[in-house]
Amino acid sequence: MTINASARSVMERCDILGSYSEEPDRLTRPFASSAMRKANEAVATWMQAAGMAVQQDRVGNLIGRYEANQAGAKTLLLGSHLDSVRDAGKYDGPLGVMVALASIERLHARSEHLPFAIEILGFADEEGLRYNSSYIGSKVVTGTFNPEYLHLTDAEGITMAEAIRAFGGDPDPDALQTAHWHRDELLGYCEVHIEQGPVLEARNLPVAVVSAIAGQNRISVRFVGEAGHAGTVPISLRRDALCAAAEFVLAVETMAQAQPGLVATVGQISVHPGASNVIPGQVTLSLDVRHQDDMVCDQACRQLEERAQEIATARRISVNWQMGKRHRAVPCTAQLSKQMAQAIEEVGYPPLSLPSGAGHDAVTLSELTAIAMLFVRCRGGISHNPAESVTTEDVEVAIQVLERFLHLLSQGGGVL
Ligand SMILES: [Zn+2]
Repeated sequence: MTINASARSVMERCDILGSYSEEPDRLTRPFASSAMRKANEAVATWMQAAGMAVQQDRVGNLIGRYEANQAGAKTLLLGSHLDSVRDAGKYDGPLGVMVALASIERLHARSEHLPFAIEILGFADEEGLRYNSSYIGSKVVTGTFNPEYLHLTDAEGITMAEAIRAFGGDPDPDALQTAHWHRDELLGYCEVHIEQGPVLEARNLPVAVVSAIAGQNRISVRFVGEAGHAGTVPISLRRDALCAAAEFVLAVETMAQAQPGLVATVGQISVHPGASNVIPGQVTLSLDVRHQDDMVCDQACRQLEERAQEIATARRISVNWQMGKRHRAVPCTAQLSKQMAQAIEEVGYPPLSLPSGAGHDAVTLSELTAIAMLFVRCRGGISHNPAESVTTEDVEVAIQVLERFLHLLSQGGGVL
């Protein structure tokens, strides 16, 4: 099979999977849904044709295994998620599973087995659309699933336990918390994923190796001034909470512009009392700060807190800083990433290294084994949107890089 035929097959399969949806005119494939069942069935058929033994685990992850050429070998995990957000694109998730599958098909066509086994994982839930909980699939693989999730209900009142059972799984809390793998049985986990950002496009490159999955701090900031009549209170005597918030929003942008790799976003703002003829007395806003280095992220947050305080003091109002969710950055494993970078170079491209601003199944897998990720260029950096787009040429490069990567791992005899 030519590399071009493999890439075209990946594109066709992403189209087919993109047609399995819970909604007629858009792609919406939640956890344990009938659309998910169709996706798993299709992928299982393709896996079997590629010489893999296929099973669906107790939470609904699809797992295909391609054996090693020697007994007692370690296993390399490849994969990504097969669920989607609402009104999704076709590539976020499925592309990683399909590129992995293409690399196995090519091995199978040559009757070639490697000194390690390969398992492709199609995770049942990464996006958390149905239960507003993320990484259900990969957490079951790593044994970090929280059994309290089983009581969560979806929009129709169906509990996660019921959904798992209806999907043919087993919602036994103990089993769901038990990792299938021991660390020393694994070589690592490698995930191919669309970039979901515009850097590769700007650099005119098809792929990049991921350096780390950025940490994330969420903060709620409340400015409290004084409400008053919009007609009678002179400007000089006002304590306008929204003016303070506006100054702060621009300060956030300025700080992010000054610090390489830092992204900071105010995405929500609520104004109280919120009337056209009333001076805003209280404003609450959300702040999301991310960087691949936790120290930089934490320092930026501290500086922004100081800045908020200065703005408030100058305007004679008060500010309340409430730290919310905090996710630490997850660095990709140096050894595996080095081999991925070498693979990119051997295929003929400079090995650009990029942080991921979005979370991935690799975050969960990092608790069990070494991780590496390969980003593939997507048009305009657009994701979580039907306009998500990748080219067959870039998919060709991704398959070649993954093949080189497997080859480099084989040279090491499947031992890290
Ligand atoms: Zn994804």
